[in-house]
Amino acid sequence: MRSIKRASRRLPASLRGAPTSAPGSGARFLSTTAPTPSTATTNGSTNTSVTPISSVLIANRGEIALRVARTAASMGIRTTTLYTDIDAASQHAKCTPYAISLGAPSAYLDGPRIVELAKKHGIQALHPGYGFLSENPAFAKACEEAGIVFVGPPAKAMTDMGDKARSKEIMNASGVPCVPGYHGSEQSVEQLKARAAEIKYPVLLKSVKGGGGKGMRIVRTADEFEAQLKSARAEARASFGEGGEVMLVEKYIVRPRHVEVQVFADRHGNCVALGERDCSIQRRHQKILEESPAPLLDDVTRKDLWDKARKAALAVDYVGAGTVEFILDKDTNEFYFMEMNTRLQVEHPVSEMVTGTDLVEWQFRVAAGEKLPLTQDEIEARILERGAAIEARIYAENPEKGFFPDSGTLVHLSKPQTNEDVRIDAGFVEGDTVSEAYDGMIAKLIVRGKDRETAIRKLELALREYEVVGLSTNIEFLKRLCNSQAFIEGDVETGFIDNWKQELFGAKPTSNDVFAQAALGLLGTQTQNAPAAHGQTLGFGEAATQNSRKFAFRVQDDASTEEGKIVEVEVTQLNNKLFNVSVRKEGDDKPQVFENIVSESTSTTAPTSSAKKTKLTTYFPLARVNTTLVQDPADNEKLTVFQLGHKTQLRLVSPGWFDKALGLKEVAASVVAPMPCKILRNEVEEGQSVEKGAPLVVIESMKMETVIRSPQSGVIKKLAHKEGDICKAGTVLVLFEETDESS
Ligand code: ADP
Ligand code: ADP
Ligand code: MG
Repeated sequence: MRSIKRASRRLPASLRGAPTSAPGSGARFLSTTAPTPSTATTNGSTNTSVTPISSVLIANRGEIALRVARTAASMGIRTTTLYTDIDAASQHAKCTPYAISLGAPSAYLDGPRIVELAKKHGIQALHPGYGFLSENPAFAKACEEAGIVFVGPPAKAMTDMGDKARSKEIMNASGVPCVPGYHGSEQSVEQLKARAAEIKYPVLLKSVKGGGGKGMRIVRTADEFEAQLKSARAEARASFGEGGEVMLVEKYIVRPRHVEVQVFADRHGNCVALGERDCSIQRRHQKILEESPAPLLDDVTRKDLWDKARKAALAVDYVGAGTVEFILDKDTNEFYFMEMNTRLQVEHPVSEMVTGTDLVEWQFRVAAGEKLPLTQDEIEARILERGAAIEARIYAENPEKGFFPDSGTLVHLSKPQTNEDVRIDAGFVEGDTVSEAYDGMIAKLIVRGKDRETAIRKLELALREYEVVGLSTNIEFLKRLCNSQAFIEGDVETGFIDNWKQELFGAKPTSNDVFAQAALGLLGTQTQNAPAAHGQTLGFGEAATQNSRKFAFRVQDDASTEEGKIVEVEVTQLNNKLFNVSVRKEGDDKPQVFENIVSESTSTTAPTSSAKKTKLTTYFPLARVNTTLVQDPADNEKLTVFQLGHKTQLRLVSPGWFDKALGLKEVAASVVAPMPCKILRNEVEEGQSVEKGAPLVVIESMKMETVIRSPQSGVIKKLAHKEGDICKAGTVLVLFEETDESS
């Protein structure tokens, strides 16, 4: 411990975030074109000695905190995480040897307190992750001043790049092309409108403080300028606070691609580009899929982008990991600087995959004063060798409902197998709750293939194995993206989702074997979990003469064309594992019958979420089908079926529906069992008068109690069964005295 304290006290000045002018670096020379001198934070030190990072506080949450902690642990760095009250049981709060409580949900933003905690606990370095305080120069500065190594760029570079207007001035001065537009301080409505007219409509309004696609509005004509400006300003002020209302007016590129370059710089004057990422597949100006290399990009443009990105980083004396974002106009093939994100990005794994690097490790090494581990040539050689990588962001949201965010408990979570080429960065495990207080990203799935097509195919296959129950996700949507021909061809642009909505949205038919499997699965849970009296399986067994069971489901799935329909399934057990299953959808004349199918299932109850899960393997006439059936712990009738990579949501129809679905006829003067069941109790006595609707018998079927009510007013003649009796469907339960009035 002492050595740690000593280490932080002795921290070389060069580690306190001050940009140094590395002598003899041709590349650094570019930095002199930056309009503002960097003397304010320069201490003149050229000390480039290396002080390894030995302890770190991660000022973030979720998957990024876990991601950073993983590398920190592998480097032997003692790691501490922070958590708020609602995150107390979260994975990131549990993953490290030390974790400090912060309290309120917004406390991740409490910079001074976090710096104080780092000092108090003698922690040498602070990693800000992304989001929260990661691009806050005041926070970086506070760390520097407290003698804590900020694992990120110097505060000055953040200030220069943090403001979209200022960064564009610097870029223009350094010869990096920017989108034509107005970045000035004159902010009256009239002035901005006049600039918009000069730029020519359509224009894009953007907050100088923007991020995450917020505070941006497209203005297509002069008439709508004022309304859009007002709305952009309101959103920006709400998201970014004071100063957020300051707007840029940019030429709106009608068919843009978002292509960004991962850059990395050290304190020795080196700056490399680790390839580019195409992040054009977006919704609400937010990325959903990111890939490297960018598809359909000629090598000259690609290299030019890398050069411009390095130039941009060097112009602000950048140190550490950063991303230079460009917008590429598909109509003219021109590209323009959009902004620089002075941090690690969500999608950094894509670049790690194609370059075979660990960028968090690079961050720690650069923060310690080391040189970059690879040269530009070495990186390029790796990129050529390693093919393509693609990342899908798995969000708690409903794409069919305008990508509306969702939250809730992950009742069931099953992930694809990971390996060297299939990676998952996630912040949650089964049983965790995705809170509406924070970003709804559940996980990132990253895959690599020898080329782009292979990577997409592998991604699609992995997504098919990703199963989530408990909240809406975009997984089904992501699969459809992967199957979209236009996407496979690489014809991407930021309007992609809108342009291809016919193909990407809308219901698809659900095949009958899904319903067959749901019924077989339910039967499985029941026969496995509820052996009936006399050693017989409920409703089945040697003694049963009619060993079949009926189920009715209502499809409750936006993504199915059968949405709302009742589907009736009859399962007949022929022997131990052999069944006939007939499935009839509402509106079909006759059922589809699957004969002699072999089916096996096992049920478990998830320890964390107590969801009941049944895994089935059934040999249908043409194929083996593996299915997972999940019953919601809070609502046993809510079923989710995962089958052949598709998710279908059903509702086991409640008793009222059952009768209707089964077309149950009320036999005059008697009441019969609507389904195979066990008699729990008789609610009436022989000779008793009852009103229509009065409870007669309570039965249990599929672990569900059902009250059988009187279809008529009358007098009970006979109760056919006593408590504990097992009855087949159609067995008479109650007989009435025959009277003329009974109807
Ligand atoms: P001591 O602090 O006296 O060595 P501990 O065993 O409690 O005793 O702590 C071991 C080391 O971990 C110490 O160097 C301590 O400063 C450090 N430490 C304690 N709590 C934290 C924390 N939350 N985050 C980081 N380091 C911590
Ligand atoms: P943020 O800080 O929110 O990330 P950006 O400036 O990076 O803001 O822009 C976010 C997204 O908005 C881009 O990825 C792109 O889809 C779109 N966009 C930005 N500028 C333009 C423009 N001039 N024309 C068209 N689309 C743009
Ligand atoms: Mg951006």
